[in-house]
Amino acid sequence: MEYKTDYLVIGSGATAMAFVDTMLKETDATFLMVDRRPKVGGHWNDAYPFVRLHQPSSFYGVASRPLGRNRLDETGFNKGYFELATGVEITHYYHSLMDEVFIPSKRVQYLPLCEYTEEGDIISLMSGEKHNVTVNKKVVNATHITTEIPMTHTPNFAVAAGVNCVPPNHLCRLAPNFKHITVLGGGKTGIDSITWLLANDYPADNITWVIPRDSWFYDRSKFQPDEAFLDQTLEFLAGQTETFAAAKSLEDVCLGMESKGNWLRLDKNVWPSMFHAAIITKADLEQIQRIKNIVRLGRVEAITSKGMQLTQGEISCQPDSLYIDCTAAGLGHNVNNFTPVFQHDLINLQMIRSWQPCFSGALIAYIEANIQDDALRQAMTHPTPMSDTVKDFLRSQAHRMMNEGQWRAHPDIAKWLVDCRLDGFSHLFANISADDDKKHSQLQRYGQNAQAAVENLLRLAAAV
Ligand SMILES: Cc1cc2nc3c(=O)[nH]c(=O)nc-3n(C[C@H](O)[C@H](O)[C@H](O)COP(=O)(O)OP(=O)(O)OC[C@H]3O[C@@H](n4cnc5c(N)ncnc54)[C@H](O)[C@@H]3O)c2cc1C
Repeated sequence: MEYKTDYLVIGSGATAMAFVDTMLKETDATFLMVDRRPKVGGHWNDAYPFVRLHQPSSFYGVASRPLGRNRLDETGFNKGYFELATGVEITHYYHSLMDEVFIPSKRVQYLPLCEYTEEGDIISLMSGEKHNVTVNKKVVNATHITTEIPMTHTPNFAVAAGVNCVPPNHLCRLAPNFKHITVLGGGKTGIDSITWLLANDYPADNITWVIPRDSWFYDRSKFQPDEAFLDQTLEFLAGQTETFAAAKSLEDVCLGMESKGNWLRLDKNVWPSMFHAAIITKADLEQIQRIKNIVRLGRVEAITSKGMQLTQGEISCQPDSLYIDCTAAGLGHNVNNFTPVFQHDLINLQMIRSWQPCFSGALIAYIEANIQDDALRQAMTHPTPMSDTVKDFLRSQAHRMMNEGQWRAHPDIAKWLVDCRLDGFSHLFANISADDDKKHSQLQRYGQNAQAAVENLLRLAAAV
């Protein structure tokens, strides 16, 4: 088949959808979206059944359409905080957006089940046919963040015949049949599996948790986009920036974040090295702290009917345990990917606000449509890639703060931030009343420390 388009978009996950959605509003361009998956929404199509966003739904998705109903949860471990969309809600959101908005606009064509090859060809995975595309403007690579999830990754450990090791997608169905469950992985998917089991009355003593590396977690109370939580959010921003500006070492950053209540950890006696920006509540933390049988012997290398071989030792296990593989890299492929966003006739959709791919896709579209000065574009779009360790976090945060400074200094972008639902918080900051001394003083503390924070973070990142 022959196609003509202004923008060829590779990938149709959350980042690509946010980009195209904003471009539809800001330009009259046309788009051809290509994805090897059968549906838009990227990795969410293969997520485990109890998955939810880490962050409130109200600032996830695309700019033009709300996700969820912006309600506070009344039950569960997120009680009192804004709702977190489920995987089903997210996929429905993207599928209906494509069917109801993108395709009817007559400006978006969509080729599912098509591979974009290294040679730049588009090949149908069903027929093998090669599609020829004439691109008038740019190619948009929306695959940089490429999310690796349990259902579609290949575990990097051996599993002996007869051992039951499955992704969390099968946990709900299989858990009642097993008297013992071993959860592999200390990240958010491992936490989700454990909290799901405990919420459904699976005995904590019958769970073994393999944590190759302990992790720092963000406290979700700091990310609630509402006037009622604004003091906490501003205190988080001011305190974090003071920590970044004053820290003498990477350890100082961690201790500062912890002492200000921004970061949590599973065990005060274990020093975490990992930082994947998982966001949990204190109620989640209380739950995962109920697990006493924790294995900290590095990564799993092999599982046999007798036990596990790990990088730092061997342990024997319950012979009839169900192993839940939560070891996929998540956004791990994006760590230290500083590929520039704007490169001539190529746009690399990268995160330009840390861990906010949707916001980033939308803002890059706004910049593409409205800002022509290349130096300014570059200054506004330093990549803030995913972090694996706290060290990665330092540089990514410095870039985020550099970008934020550029955006807020540009009147059109500053207004866009206030108006765009994906920003989450700028509209709250813009509406702080003139006589609210406490909040203005928090904003001032942020502003006074921002430049020193950027410089110090870059210095610390270079030193470790
Ligand atoms: C459990 C979980 C919870 C999360 N919670 C949050 C959250 O609360 N907030 C948040 O902001 N982020 C969250 N994330 C991060 C999440 O990954 C992003 O929100 C977002 O979904 C990433 O979208 P993406 O489009 O960049 O990547 P993907 O979803 O990976 O999409 C990329 C697409 O590109 C396609 N593709 C890749 N290469 C090719 C090729 N060569 N040819 C054709 N197609 C190709 C893939 O098939 C895929 O569909 C979470 C992630 C996980 C795993």
